[in-house]
Amino acid sequence: MAGPSIFSRIVAGEIPCHRIYETDHVLAFLDINPLAEGHALVIPKRPVERLDELTPDEAAELGRAVREVAVRVMRVVGAPAYNVLQNNGSLAGQEVPHVHFHIIPRREGDGLGYRWRPQKVAPEVLAALAARIAGT
Ligand code: AMP
Repeated sequence: MAGPSIFSRIVAGEIPCHRIYETDHVLAFLDINPLAEGHALVIPKRPVERLDELTPDEAAELGRAVREVAVRVMRVVGAPAYNVLQNNGSLAGQEVPHVHFHIIPRREGDGLGYRWRPQKVAPEVLAALAARIAGT
């Protein structure tokens, strides 16, 4: 069985981090290999792999912390824009199996970005899917 993730070891204080924000249930620290100045990670202290495994209250507290950390990071680095990124599952690019939100300041010409491949889908297909997800 896999042991505690690197982020659980940071929460436990076994591994150092550059801490920027903390509450009873949330910790935020600078990414060790930042994509930009101020690249930060916001995590729940409880070791949960994916966003949907959090309780609604945990998710709410984490969401408040993501906003708060974004405000603080952006105030300090002064970038004009930022991305909030959150990967669930290795197929989605998640490397550390402990929920984390990336806050990534963005600047003109920084060379970062995604490869979006939009698909054309008929409106009735979208409508049927939306109804299933909405449960109507
Ligand atoms: P993800 O691919 O979404 O799982 O992102 C994992 C992130 O964790 C990467 O951006 C890593 O640079 C970052 N990371 C891994 N180990 C550490 C660490 N010890 N301290 C801070 N950030 C870390």
